[in-house]
Amino acid sequence: MAASRAQPILIAGGGIGGLAAALGLAQKGFRSILLEKASSLGEIGAGIQLGPNAFHAFDYLGVGEAARNMAVYIDQLRLMDALTAEEICHVDLHEAFRARFGNPYAVVHRGDLHGVLLKACRDSDLIELRVSSEVTGYGQDGSSVTARLANGERVAGSLLIGADGLWSNVRKQVTGDGPPRVSGHTTYRSVIPTEQMPEDLRWNAATLWAGPKCHIVHYPLSGWKVFNLVVTYHNDAPEPVAGKPVSNEEVLQGFGHIHERAQSIIRHGTNWRLWVLCDRDPMERWIDGRVALLGDAAHPMLQYFAQGACQAMEDAVCLSHMMAEYEDHAVALEQYRAQRFPHTARVQLLSRAIGEHIYHPAGEHARLRNAIMSAKSQEEWFGDLAWIYGGGTGVKR
Ligand SMILES: Cc1cc2nc3c(=O)[nH]c(=O)nc-3n(C[C@H](O)[C@H](O)[C@H](O)COP(=O)(O)OP(=O)(O)OC[C@H]3O[C@@H](n4cnc5c(N)ncnc54)[C@H](O)[C@@H]3O)c2cc1C
Repeated sequence: MAASRAQPILIAGGGIGGLAAALGLAQKGFRSILLEKASSLGEIGAGIQLGPNAFHAFDYLGVGEAARNMAVYIDQLRLMDALTAEEICHVDLHEAFRARFGNPYAVVHRGDLHGVLLKACRDSDLIELRVSSEVTGYGQDGSSVTARLANGERVAGSLLIGADGLWSNVRKQVTGDGPPRVSGHTTYRSVIPTEQMPEDLRWNAATLWAGPKCHIVHYPLSGWKVFNLVVTYHNDAPEPVAGKPVSNEEVLQGFGHIHERAQSIIRHGTNWRLWVLCDRDPMERWIDGRVALLGDAAHPMLQYFAQGACQAMEDAVCLSHMMAEYEDHAVALEQYRAQRFPHTARVQLLSRAIGEHIYHPAGEHARLRNAIMSAKSQEEWFGDLAWIYGGGTGVKR
C-alpha cells in the first residue's frame, strides 16, 4: 500500500497528540490536514507535568527551545502522607536526574504548551488546520481514505490518524469496542494565584499528598504566577463528567479525614471544575487499513503517571519515523503500532496500579507503601523510572 506524498494525511483532533502528529509528519516532508471539532484550537487552563521523555519529543518536533522557555523546572517529585502531613519520600530532579535521562522534568500550563505546538503548525507550509470539522467516520478504498465530517463535508487523504481523544469517533469505527471505562475517581481542578497558596506550601515541587481513597497534587506554573491544584477522590462516581463547575464545599466533602494542612490547600482553591476519570484496558487493534489511532484515542489512561500527553507525543515521533522508514504505509502503520502498543499498555496498566497502591491506600496497605517508598535511594528511583524517562524518543529503527 504505497501512497504518494502529494496526497495529504488527515489527522482528526487538534489536541497535543494531533498537533504533535502533524509536526512529526512535517519533519519528514508529509503534508497533513488537521480536522478539529471545536470552533477554535486550544486547551483547558490547567497544568501538565512533563517527564524528560516529553523533551526528547519536543526536540524532534522542532519546538524544544520554545517548550523549554515556558516550563517551570521543579526541584522534586515529593510524596506526602496526607494523614500525618509528613514526607514519605522524594525524587530529586537536579543534575543527577538530568544527566541520567538527558533532559529535565518540568511543569507547564497546558495552554502554553498547546500554543507552542500550534504556532509551529501554523508556521509550517505542510500543515493545514481546519476548525469546526468534527470527523464522524471514514470510508476507504485501495488508494485513499475519506473522512466524513458532521457538516456533511468529505475530506480525502492518503491516511487518517485518529487523534480525537478519549471519546474518539475514529476509534469507534476502528475497534467498535464501546465507551471507555468509568474509573469511579472524581478529579477537581483549580488554578490559583501564587499569593493565594499557603506560604509554607509554596514548594518548587510536584507534590502529591496521598490519603485513603483520595489525593492532592500541586505545583507552580507560568513563571510562578499561579499554582495548579488537582484533587482526586475515589468515590465510585458512576457516570463520566467533564469540566462541571463545583463549589469549594462540594470538593471538601471527600477530604474531611485527612490532615488539616492538606485540607487547607483545598480551601484556597477557587473556580473548581470536576471530571470523572475514564480509561480503557489496553487493546491491540489500533489500525484499520489506512487508519491509525494515536494518543488518548489509542490508549486513554488515568493521569497517575502524568504521562498521557507525553505518550501521545512519543506516538507522534514514532509515527513520523516509521512513515519515513517504510515506503509501504501499511508496513509503516503496523511498525508504529507494534512499537507503541506494549509500551503504552504498560503505562495504562501501571497508572491504575499506582492509584491503588501509592495514591489511595489506607491502614496497613498505606504503612507498607510508606516503608517501601521511604527506603529507596535516589539511584533506585532513577532505576525504577528509566523505562519511561530514559529511552530517548523510544523509537527502535
Ligand atoms: C486531571 C488530568 C491530569 C493530567 N495530567 C497529565 C500530566 O501531568 N502529564 C501528561 O503527560 N498527561 C496528563 N494528562 C493526560 C493528558 O491530558 C492527555 O493524555 C492528553 O491531553 C491527550 O491528548 P490527545 O491529543 O490524545 O487528546 P485530547 O487532548 O483529548 O485532544 C483531542 C482533540 O480532538 C478533538 N476532537 C474530539 N473528537 C473529535 C472528532 N470526532 N473530530 C475532530 N476533532 C475531535 C477535541 O476537541 C480535542 O481538541 C492528564 C489528564 C487529566 C484528566
